[in-house]
Amino acid sequence: MTQITPAIVILGQGSLATARRIQQVYPAAQIHGLAGRVEGADSVYQEFGATLRALYQQATPIIALCAAGIVIRTLAPLLLEKGAEPPVLAVAEDGSAVVPLLGGLGGVNVMARDIAAGLQVAAAITTSGELRFGTCLLNPPSGYALGDLESGKRFVSDLLAGHRVHIEGAAPWLDQAQLPQDPQAQRTIHVGTAERQASADELLIYPRSVAVAVRAETADLAHAVRSALQQAKVAAQSLACLLAADSQMASATLREAALELGVPLRFVAVAADVQSIALAAVPHAQIHLVQNLAIAVAAEPLDIKHVGRPRGRLAVIGLGPGAAELMVPAVKAELARATDVLGYETYVRMAGPFRDDQVQHCTDNREEMQRARHAFRLAAAGRSVIVVSSGDPGVFAMAAAVLEALHESSDPAWHNVDLQILPGVSASLATAAQAGAPLGHDFCVMSLSDNLKPWSIIEKRLDLAAQADLALAFYNPISRARPWQLGRALEIVAQHRTPQTPVVLGRDIGRPGQTLRTITLGTLTADQVDMRTMVLIGSTTTCTFPRASGGEWVYTPRWYGEKPLS
Ligand code: SAH
Repeated sequence: MTQITPAIVILGQGSLATARRIQQVYPAAQIHGLAGRVEGADSVYQEFGATLRALYQQATPIIALCAAGIVIRTLAPLLLEKGAEPPVLAVAEDGSAVVPLLGGLGGVNVMARDIAAGLQVAAAITTSGELRFGTCLLNPPSGYALGDLESGKRFVSDLLAGHRVHIEGAAPWLDQAQLPQDPQAQRTIHVGTAERQASADELLIYPRSVAVAVRAETADLAHAVRSALQQAKVAAQSLACLLAADSQMASATLREAALELGVPLRFVAVAADVQSIALAAVPHAQIHLVQNLAIAVAAEPLDIKHVGRPRGRLAVIGLGPGAAELMVPAVKAELARATDVLGYETYVRMAGPFRDDQVQHCTDNREEMQRARHAFRLAAAGRSVIVVSSGDPGVFAMAAAVLEALHESSDPAWHNVDLQILPGVSASLATAAQAGAPLGHDFCVMSLSDNLKPWSIIEKRLDLAAQADLALAFYNPISRARPWQLGRALEIVAQHRTPQTPVVLGRDIGRPGQTLRTITLGTLTADQVDMRTMVLIGSTTTCTFPRASGGEWVYTPRWYGEKPLS
């Protein structure tokens, strides 16, 4: 499964097709296109140098579709600074060459090979150790950790200079590498979980085969884990995960300790002592009991997918109106980590593309409570679930349905789920922004749908909101099943507003074929509106004036009554 989320940066339209092919290797990656030169990229940037340097400084892996020289010159000022060195690759515009430039220890060669495989070319690998031995000793596969980088670099240059090596301990991936092995050799690669001081001729590699079972009540948990490992003479680098009872799943102490130790947290359905927790998760492990903790040392690196189960996560996300650049970064990150995606088919499609390992559960728009319960069942089983809404999930959308389902449930497994609501740009705000600032003063947001509330309360609220001189934003203004309601709503509003009141109609805002119209209340009729339209009606102070580029600006001033002196 590909977890890396690089940025794909392109300078011209001619690179877009290659960029899309690379995106299939990294579905969560965004294509950044130069403003004015590229149409149809996922996001637009103004200045190449500043953009590339900002990505680099945020440690984002970079795939630049341009000459390697341009990338080198652009990043050169940053290279002497210590700090993160994310993978950086240059790829020829036509996809004919893939050149890893920086980030050897961040896995740039692995990325180069993955991209090259996607483009059906060979990667231009130039790292001698990697070419000679077929593996990067300094960047062991998951399941193993390198003891120390500096002595590792010295060790690899010794081997390149002709020294032979003896491997102690089991590391199957090293046996497949073309290392100059010799049982008599002085230089040793030592593979094991025991803490040890490396001698000058030794490279230490730690298998991640250790799990520590803990209880949330232990004071200063991360420190307790470190000192227990030390007492048991087990290397901290071998720690693969923390284990706990699933009754403590929602504990913030556990979450913080795992974060501090940089390892995942796994749970088992055992409420008893730490020793039983450890054995339940890692059956044949050797157990060391130290203080209140149980250290489980397995014979092989732990495959974390099969150790206990993770705390499930349920994120209710808002996609924004539709355009990718209006989606908040937290939502993009959530989409990349999700295992299951639920929602109305149109929105699930809008949230994609998804990887093959991500399960899509598309349902009809109306089955909201069923969808919410389905999401909790999946999350309670340890999956990372997303429920998709358009706009903001808290505005006439799934967040309230999900909370209602949780409120009605007494299942502790549902309440233990890591529930997150991630906001989005709601249709009223996206429409208002395109028109100017029609909601620039107090306003009232209403859904005109009487599916889940009586029409009488809608009339009452409309009447009072219009009377209070609030600008109005109507969601769900009309549908085939609700043909007359909008007309009646407009009659009520007209009792409190003149026919000249500005009205903004935004249809499919942020989506292909979007339209934005500014008209007046007097000319607004229900047939100009459909269920994909946002209706904004001004207050008595909302006004318009021509824009230089055609059409009009609409805004509601910040003040009310008399204009303040400025
Ligand atoms: N959660 C969504 C609203 C869902 S209700 C949000 O925050 O935007 C659905 C209604 O929202 C539609 O009937 C329409 O009135 C409005 N709407 C949603 N997306 C829209 C878009 N892209 N352009 C215009 N109106 C939209």
